[in-house]
Amino acid sequence: MPQALHERRHSACANNVSTSTLPKHRHLAPTPRQSPIDIRTNDLCHDPKECKADSLNIDCKSGDCSDLICTSTGFRVNPGRNCKSTFSSSYLKDVYEFAQFHAHWGQDASCGSEHTIDGKKYAAEVHFVFYNTKYGSFAEAAEKDDGLAVIGVLLEKGDHNPNYEVLIDTVKKGIGNDKPVPMPKGYSWEGLLPTSNKRDFVTYLGSLTTPPYLESVTWTVFLTPVNISDQQLSILRKITPANYRSCQDVCGRTVRCSKGGSNSNVYL
Ligand SMILES: [Zn+2]
Repeated sequence: MPQALHERRHSACANNVSTSTLPKHRHLAPTPRQSPIDIRTNDLCHDPKECKADSLNIDCKSGDCSDLICTSTGFRVNPGRNCKSTFSSSYLKDVYEFAQFHAHWGQDASCGSEHTIDGKKYAAEVHFVFYNTKYGSFAEAAEKDDGLAVIGVLLEKGDHNPNYEVLIDTVKKGIGNDKPVPMPKGYSWEGLLPTSNKRDFVTYLGSLTTPPYLESVTWTVFLTPVNISDQQLSILRKITPANYRSCQDVCGRTVRCSKGGSNSNVYL
């Protein structure tokens, strides 16, 4: 990391400088708000006021997912018409409604996650996408600075994960099928998240990680990965071998964390 950038990041943290004060270059590359990023644990700002693991309000309603579609670049699980699943938290001003979830992975378990932690890549990453209900639609929200909230779950190669079985089985049915396949009745994605006692997280302002890379996402990434077996990952790789974006420059952004540590800066 260039020294100047390192210092800038620390001073942004110590002086409580919001990223909104940083210059914006929305149409120029590199932009200051792109995702994913490498989460550097030494540079996190512990924010005990707004970022507590128990401040996350993830309200997942069973049966809210209607179908799954496989495309050339991955899969997507869509909500039903009367979706009521929402996400809110003390660091989000508004309530966000579930819009879809999908995942990113690599050709083998040595890579595939989009966010990395201290340079460590995980085998895959699931993204739960929500849009701000104060905007009329997902499309409108996606253009706004505070339009989207995405929860990222890192997946690590390990034991077979029964909580992912229904999802992987539905992906199997979707491969080679150009129509959406229905999700089983009463399906809930809550089991794909880390268990409720392992939900320390980081949050920062970023972007979509696929074109058009709109800078409208408030990210929440859990620090504890969830296990998935290589056999389960191999089903995803049948859709496409790999579909993850590499880490982008942090550009001095503040990355807040729910967990304090000896090396963390205190964000007041
Ligand atoms: Zn994604």
